[in-house]
Amino acid sequence: MPDTFRALYAEQVEGRPRVTLTTLEDRALPPGEVTLDVAFSSLNYKDGLALTGKGKVIRKFPLVPGIDVAGTVRASSSTRFKPGEAVFATGWNMGESLWGGYTQRTRLSADILQRVPRGLDAKQVMAVGTAGFTAMLCVQALEDAGSLRSGREVVVTGAAGGVGSVAVALLAALGQRVVASTGRREHEPWLRSLGASDILDRAVLAEKGPPLASERWGAGVDSVGGQTLATVLSQTAFEGAIAACGVAGGPDLPVTVFPFILRGVKLLGVNSVLVPMDRRERAWQRLVELLPADKLAESTSVVPMSKLLELAPEILAGKVRGRVVVDVNA
Ligand code: NDP
Repeated sequence: MPDTFRALYAEQVEGRPRVTLTTLEDRALPPGEVTLDVAFSSLNYKDGLALTGKGKVIRKFPLVPGIDVAGTVRASSSTRFKPGEAVFATGWNMGESLWGGYTQRTRLSADILQRVPRGLDAKQVMAVGTAGFTAMLCVQALEDAGSLRSGREVVVTGAAGGVGSVAVALLAALGQRVVASTGRREHEPWLRSLGASDILDRAVLAEKGPPLASERWGAGVDSVGGQTLATVLSQTAFEGAIAACGVAGGPDLPVTVFPFILRGVKLLGVNSVLVPMDRRERAWQRLVELLPADKLAESTSVVPMSKLLELAPEILAGKVRGRVVVDVNA
């Protein structure tokens, strides 16, 4: 009998991607030095786009989607990893042009693998996932810009989402006064439990205002883009900085140059996909130090891989709260 495993598999049918839950044999595995028994993956906005076919995320077919993966080394021809070690990877074009995490087994290059950091397990690493790692990169970008020293409020947009909720918890852990912007008022108690000092209705930031508004934010993390990011920039105080990573509200940016040239505001772009390994290790170390395990657990739900296709439209509709871990063996 051939060795088989379950996976979500994306194929191109009549020019359109079609994803199905299927059984594959080991000979379908891609090339690579390390074979993994996968335990968990996660659901990110980009996965929602891939699974629904709404965005052109998958660039090579057939492919296993899922931009995050965590599991145990099953076999390795690399001297860096031994069978039985707990490892994970996020980004690196997994789920786009390389096999991703929605599978019970995969094979990948040793160059993109990291050991699960001491203090976390495979499930927690996926509870953080690409979204939480990106939140950490945003916070580090703000620290590097010196913008967390102003004592002013820090705004987080898309606060009830994956990137946003982790950003709220990290910034609060750093002692910042965090204002959580959300369209879902029902999540106010949870956002306050993560450390938000105040809640702002996202409709306020979605409103077009003057090119320069009253100075309010010393810094911010934005996963929404569009008019929301434009408004945040117009309200950012002298020499403040905003880390921008997302497009949940749209890709346009209707701003003037005034925040930049009259207030020295900095717009810091963040992309988590191809971050070099040394910066990844540093960011994960900070995540271990800063992100309280109970707050991460409160923000995470676990779903079986078999339910993922049903859940994918929900994340695009902004209906998913916090982070979603995917149990690939359920
Ligand atoms: P989520 O869906 O978990 O979070 C997005 C949040 O944005 C929602 O929860 C909602 O928050 C808010 N939102 C959704 N739709 C709208 C809208 N139309 N207008 C205003 N706000 C809206 O997604 P993720 O956290 O996984 O990802 C967020 C964004 O960041 C995505 O665009 C994703 O592609 C991007 N991203 C980029 C990365 C990078 O490397 N640059 C890495 C990871 C993510 P609320 O309900 O609180 O209003």
